[in-house]
Amino acid sequence: MTDTIAAISSAVGEAGIGIVRMSGKYSLNIVDTLFKGKHTDGLKNVSNRKLTYGHIVDPSDDSIVDEVLVVYMKAPYTYTREDIVEIYCHGGAISVKRILELLLKNGARLAEAGEFTKRAFLNGRLDLSQAEAVIDLIRAKTDKSYDVSLNQLEGSLSYKIKEIQDVLLNMIAHIEVSIDFPEEDIEEITYDELKVKANVVLEDIVKLLETADRGKILREGLNTVILGKPNVGKSSLLNAILRENRAIVTDVPGTTRDIIEEYVNVEGIPLKIVDTAGIRDTEDLVEKIGVDRAKQVVEQADLIIAVFDASRELSQEDEEIIELVKQRRSIVLLNKTDLPNVYDREKLAKIIGDKKIINTSIAKGEGIEELENTIVDMFYSGEVEVKGEVMVTNLRHKDQLQKAKKNILDAINGIDMNVPLDCIEVDVKNCWSNLGEISGDTVSEDIIDKVFKEFCIGK
Ligand code: GDP
Repeated sequence: MTDTIAAISSAVGEAGIGIVRMSGKYSLNIVDTLFKGKHTDGLKNVSNRKLTYGHIVDPSDDSIVDEVLVVYMKAPYTYTREDIVEIYCHGGAISVKRILELLLKNGARLAEAGEFTKRAFLNGRLDLSQAEAVIDLIRAKTDKSYDVSLNQLEGSLSYKIKEIQDVLLNMIAHIEVSIDFPEEDIEEITYDELKVKANVVLEDIVKLLETADRGKILREGLNTVILGKPNVGKSSLLNAILRENRAIVTDVPGTTRDIIEEYVNVEGIPLKIVDTAGIRDTEDLVEKIGVDRAKQVVEQADLIIAVFDASRELSQEDEEIIELVKQRRSIVLLNKTDLPNVYDREKLAKIIGDKKIINTSIAKGEGIEELENTIVDMFYSGEVEVKGEVMVTNLRHKDQLQKAKKNILDAINGIDMNVPLDCIEVDVKNCWSNLGEISGDTVSEDIIDKVFKEFCIGK
């Protein structure tokens, strides 16, 4: 990790300024060979964290590349804990690219995706869950998603995990003392005390797990499918939601293909509308992609909005759609209520059971607000308040918490059955390691690599 890395840290495209960033021992030396200061000779005597004005010059022909400001941040009080140099140049594609090329030609290596943050983690500035929050912040779809990520970056989850781990360590210490000094009465006390502590751990883990469903939605968006036969008003609904709420379109760079995802911000919940193109073509999802595929899409959805037309009679197709969504988390819209009503509401109500039916006239803008409130109620019991709450948003963390829960439950069972202390200790230690995977204490290298592959270059 001694090599010096460089990357463009600002977004591609037209902009006021562009930022090229370097981290590593030779950062200052490398820039120094390319920099001609307006008021200073070079960068050797430049003060820590002070901006220096000048030009980047190509040493091969002494031509000026751009007018820049350079800042040197001395290790260890930097993002990566290494020496960092940032160059602020003109925005746009060319200047940043030329400067980066010069840095690479003069001894720096192109940074991998997320390598700056990876160094911050490896050098102990952030734990793994905090590092993961960095990418979540950048990708946040709504203010709420941003708030949870910021909490996590500030260490709210790390702190809670550490707190639980401390209780576990205390239990381990207790067990070891008892194994070393096996006097009968000490052991009895130990079992009781262990049980109290194990229950505290269990309770904390369960509490964290309870936030995971809501957390996942904020991080990844609510997978939403709008279902209904042709002409019931699906695309009108989508347009109405889009009109009232800001849409966020993100590029998700994948290893195999790039996907464009569209999110709609409904009261802070990022709604990810699945198969948007299909809806816009006003084609029926089932008709367009076939029953099996439609079933699959429905299976994967977090929320289904099933739309029916109040001005037409309940049809065979409607019944098929009802069948498809009956057992799923769904909201039923009876649309076109402004037209004469011929739909058999009672029959619909009977088949869908206790699901809520919302009457809408999307054409007149009626019922949309009730739909949005219903979505919020369904997933957040009315309040999408996340400030200050420790929330688990990441599936990786949820998996580890589930493993930790199993291990602490095993320990509790063992305590109840008075099994030998060293057996209980194994479960407690495993629980501790599960939590360590979240903070990164006990995580393997390939998981670390996987986490940072998700990042963009320059972060
Ligand atoms: P889709 O095929 O399900 O996507 O349906 P569309 O959104 O394309 O709507 C089909 C037709 O119904 C269009 O002409 C809409 O203007 C009309 N429509 C949609 N919602 C309403 C409504 O609430 N009332 C009335 N009267 N017409 C509607």
